[in-house]
Amino acid sequence: MDLNYIEHIGIAVKNLEEAKKYYEEVLGLKCYSIEEVEDQKVRTAFFKVGQTKIELLESTSPEGPIGKFIEKKGEGIHHIAFSVNEISKQLASAEEKGIQLIDKAPRKGAEGLDIAFLHPKSTHGVLTELCENQRHCHPKISSK
Ligand code: ZN
Repeated sequence: MDLNYIEHIGIAVKNLEEAKKYYEEVLGLKCYSIEEVEDQKVRTAFFKVGQTKIELLESTSPEGPIGKFIEKKGEGIHHIAFSVNEISKQLASAEEKGIQLIDKAPRKGAEGLDIAFLHPKSTHGVLTELCENQRHCHPKISSK
């Protein structure tokens, strides 16, 4: 596989407003976007540290993946996301090496990125996300 950098770290929180205060008032970061991703049953808040983002995830339903995660493990780091080019190719490469994929094909995540997850069973316990930002990766195409 070929990774560019850590795109973001996803952190599961019980209460987005409460957690946001820590990131803003203690760490001094600025939340630049709050977004609800309905099919994932989450509300997200984004912060930037250099080129890496922190993505806080609050469940909008106990049945959602974040709701279940918090019930099992409590608040904490939920996943790590790597920026990649040609996400389909990277997925194929992971699968070829015996990694269990959660997403066989990329889908749309927050911020309109193409994303796909690798199963934590195959990654030593870390839910791993790949994401491709078309705007960054293909500047010539997006300049229209
Ligand atoms: Zn993510």
